[in-house]
Amino acid sequence: MIRSTLTAGVLAGAALFMQPPAGAQIPDAVLAGSAANIEADVRFLGDDLLEGREAGTRGFDLAALYVATQYRLIGLEPAGDDGSYFQSVPLIRGVRDREGARFAITRGDEALEFVFEDEYLPAVNFSTGEESISAPMVFVGQAVAAPHHDHDDFAGVDVAGKIAVVLNSAPASFPDAERAYYAHRIEKWRALEERGAVGMITLGDPEREAKRPWSLDAPNWKRPFMRRLDADGRPADDFPGLRVRVSASVGIAERVFAGSPYTAAEVFAMLEAGELVSFDLAGEATLSTRATLDRLESSNVVARLPGSDPALSQEHIVMTAHLDHVGFGAPVNGDTLYNGVQDNAMGTATMLETARLLADSPESFARSFLFVALTAEEKGLLGAYHYANTPTVPADGIVANVNMDMPVIIGDVTDVIPIGIEHSTLGDVTERAVAQADIVLTPDPAPEEVVFVRSDQYPFVRAGIPAVYLKGGVKLRDGGDGEAIVKAFRAKRYHLPSDDLDQPLYWPAAGRLAYVNYRIGSLIANDPERPQWLPDSFFGQTFGKH
Ligand SMILES: [Zn+2]
Repeated sequence: MIRSTLTAGVLAGAALFMQPPAGAQIPDAVLAGSAANIEADVRFLGDDLLEGREAGTRGFDLAALYVATQYRLIGLEPAGDDGSYFQSVPLIRGVRDREGARFAITRGDEALEFVFEDEYLPAVNFSTGEESISAPMVFVGQAVAAPHHDHDDFAGVDVAGKIAVVLNSAPASFPDAERAYYAHRIEKWRALEERGAVGMITLGDPEREAKRPWSLDAPNWKRPFMRRLDADGRPADDFPGLRVRVSASVGIAERVFAGSPYTAAEVFAMLEAGELVSFDLAGEATLSTRATLDRLESSNVVARLPGSDPALSQEHIVMTAHLDHVGFGAPVNGDTLYNGVQDNAMGTATMLETARLLADSPESFARSFLFVALTAEEKGLLGAYHYANTPTVPADGIVANVNMDMPVIIGDVTDVIPIGIEHSTLGDVTERAVAQADIVLTPDPAPEEVVFVRSDQYPFVRAGIPAVYLKGGVKLRDGGDGEAIVKAFRAKRYHLPSDDLDQPLYWPAAGRLAYVNYRIGSLIANDPERPQWLPDSFFGQTFGKH
């Protein structure tokens, strides 16, 4: 990218002049307007008529039309396919068939059959739909091979032709970013397929299932799984060498490890101590899966706010929020409609309000903005992977991603929680932006969960693009325990029908979040330099180009 220093100098001066000073309050009228706009959008997107906005359903398509209509009202340019606001996302859907599923272990005369839904669930094989395998089992810890940490769960065992039994996550001794990278299912699938494993059993652990019991999510097995299709029409990130994968509850662990060198209790003690070893398991497992496959199209909804600088306007800051949720599901207290209000009507509404603030701002912005309401996040960040891999603007001109996902707006807070700011110069940008809105940053209270790889910014990160993601704050002005409220939300409402419009919501806090994202956008847009990965960032080192 060629830039004249003159332009850069003028820009920096103009931007400084226009920006609110550090410690500035958000003007009351702006905040009230934002709160009202966000409430209006959330009350529409979270309504029962939208049927939980599952990708591939009428409810999602109505939500997409609503977002396109808001873009049009704001005056944003269409930036999807063929001059429209919609970017088509080709997907394949798989609905599992209970009758075609099986998980059994035989050891000598002993035959164990596990119970579908109560104890295990098969994944969909998107290449063939139906598969069945019988093979010896091998325990491979967390299936992590990280040479520069001198860690190899595959050392001393051979997984070729076998079914691998695997625990979630990655070693707690790794720095958070690397732990997140290696905990990701894609890295595990890749590692196992490369080594010739033919199947995989992902086993729950006591700590994880104490936080979110198996029984809470298992009844929703009827919901479709999805993959995106690549340019050749094949399922992307599917690893078909792993012919059958199943997930199983920690409740069956004792039976899986029976007759083997270590008991389940010993394995979980080793997990806690960070001293897992790998070993062959006694017996042979049979795994079967069957699903009905079909192909469909969903849409990302994309708009553009053009920048003012002839050269820099070719560069884009991509603001994202996923529009989809999980649709209908198993009844909880008689309710089968999963509205997805915090997840992610709220994030979508926050993104729309950020777009309004940018479009209405008296400032001019050198760089351009893109706003992308993403599909199929709940199916594995599929809309984001599609956009990051095949953007509707030149890929090397995308300078940053600002994502908004399930902020969890709990009340009148004085803070926001930044995710991923330690990896790039967007950390500095975020600090300046919150100072302009008179709020503070609270460090992520659960860094070990590494939310940075679990929402739509991660496909952009993997494409080398620095990203930031703000979650709603926890410091309540009335002194209440905000962290406890967020924890209660995650246990009682997250991905359940009660994430609906009947929960307590405080709209001005979402307005503040939109304002901070607007300030972040403004600072990136008018900085002479594009955001950079920090030299010591694992993600920058692994994926970065700039
Ligand atoms: Zn979400």
